[in-house]
Amino acid sequence: MKLKLNGWDLNMVFSSCHFLAEHDKCSRLHGHNYGVHLTLEGDVAENGLVMDFVVLKRALNAVIDDLDHRVLLPGNSKVTKVVVEGDQVIADSGSKHYSFPVEDVVILDLDAISAEMLAYFILKRLIEKLDLPENVHAIGIGVDEGKGQGAWIWEKL
Ligand SMILES: [Zn+2]
Repeated sequence: MKLKLNGWDLNMVFSSCHFLAEHDKCSRLHGHNYGVHLTLEGDVAENGLVMDFVVLKRALNAVIDDLDHRVLLPGNSKVTKVVVEGDQVIADSGSKHYSFPVEDVVILDLDAISAEMLAYFILKRLIEKLDLPENVHAIGIGVDEGKGQGAWIWEKL
């Protein structure tokens, strides 16, 4: 059986700022409201549940809270160099030079801050946080960059 949690309906959303290096339009600093969805595939256990919705929502909200109202920067980018210098985070991307207060920034272990990479990151963090029971066989995360377009990733367990 499949469980589905819709991020827009459940308010599993976050607002963040990013840019995509070397992209025509998206290389300019801008923001999105992201909606995060979750799917889970598994067998129904003796208690009648695949897994408790409350547990899933709590874990997912904890992951996305860390990203909310932050500037997200890629720590592994080959084109954007991100360094912490005292209380500032410096990001050099081609001819662009940004400086942000360190408390406003989250540096993610990713090549780029795209919906695809965010889905990968959120799924990885969520699996670390959740104690998934044996009846669960697969878990998926969808990240919408605004309503109507998003990236999905699944992992078989
Ligand atoms: Zn964007």
